[in-house]
Amino acid sequence: MNIIVCAKQVVDASEIKIDSSSNKPILEGIPKKISDIDKNALEEAIKIKEKHNGKITVVTVGSADAKERIKELLAMGADEGVLIPYPDKYDYHIVSTLLAEAIKKIGEYDIILCGEASTDLFSGQIGPKIAGLLDISQITYAQSVNAEKDKVTAERNMGEKSVTSESSYPVLITVTKEINEPRLPSLMQILGAANKPINEWDIESLVVGLEPKIKTVELKGVSMDRKNIVFENNLDDSVGKLVDNLAKDGVLG
Ligand SMILES: Cc1cc2nc3c(=O)[nH]c(=O)nc-3n(C[C@H](O)[C@H](O)[C@H](O)COP(=O)(O)OP(=O)(O)OC[C@H]3O[C@@H](n4cnc5c(N)ncnc54)[C@H](O)[C@@H]3O)c2cc1C
Repeated sequence: MNIIVCAKQVVDASEIKIDSSSNKPILEGIPKKISDIDKNALEEAIKIKEKHNGKITVVTVGSADAKERIKELLAMGADEGVLIPYPDKYDYHIVSTLLAEAIKKIGEYDIILCGEASTDLFSGQIGPKIAGLLDISQITYAQSVNAEKDKVTAERNMGEKSVTSESSYPVLITVTKEINEPRLPSLMQILGAANKPINEWDIESLVVGLEPKIKTVELKGVSMDRKNIVFENNLDDSVGKLVDNLAKDGVLG
């Protein structure tokens, strides 16, 4: 089983502060990490490999420091990494095209796993776009995956209902956070990751003449002002007033 995992390096969104004068997020100096749900995607890939054997390749479009993040994924259990440098100009079209071209270059693949969405921009576009570009089937928002020899089934939770989809290979699956608990690599695995290959592929070796189709017009923080209403009377009275106020503001139906 040849498995490809698309993993994105993101800024740690919990560390982002908003510049109060410009209302813009301050992105400089924020720690970077692998998008959380992409670790779930890799964990699922490792489980499939444990069942069927095979190879896991992690692909990242990102800046040079993403190499350190790829090493974390190799320590978790991926066999090989591919890093494609971010182009000067990029949008969803460019990132998905680069990932699709890299996957074509890798050649043999049965399953491509992505997160349902990245934990910074959360557009959820990249997985389905890659499947479209490769003209293969896709199953999105999987909360469980069962890979068999000739087919794979995946379940999506719809609240009161769940939908189970089945596909032959090759297939692209996007997974949710609930699918599993990503493993923590041991010290031996962390040391061993240094010997696993990370290939760096130039954009020009994959595709030429790519132009963005969408422009981000503005990125701004949204301030949430607190009302600072305090109910100080006896508890029963205060609870009643709190419920009335929440209902008035539409928080309670
Ligand atoms: C400084 C900056 C400028 C930008 N400018 C623009 C712009 O002008 N126009 C515009 O449209 N967009 C712009 N973007 C957004 C950029 O194109 C997106 O980061 C990218 O396309 C991925 O979108 P997403 O994070 O919403 O991915 P999602 O679709 O939410 O991610 C889903 C899954 O796809 C995979 N994936 C996503 N990105 C990658 C990656 N890089 N490498 C490997 N796997 C990946 C992962 O498995 C992930 O879980 C900009 C981003 C930054 C940081």
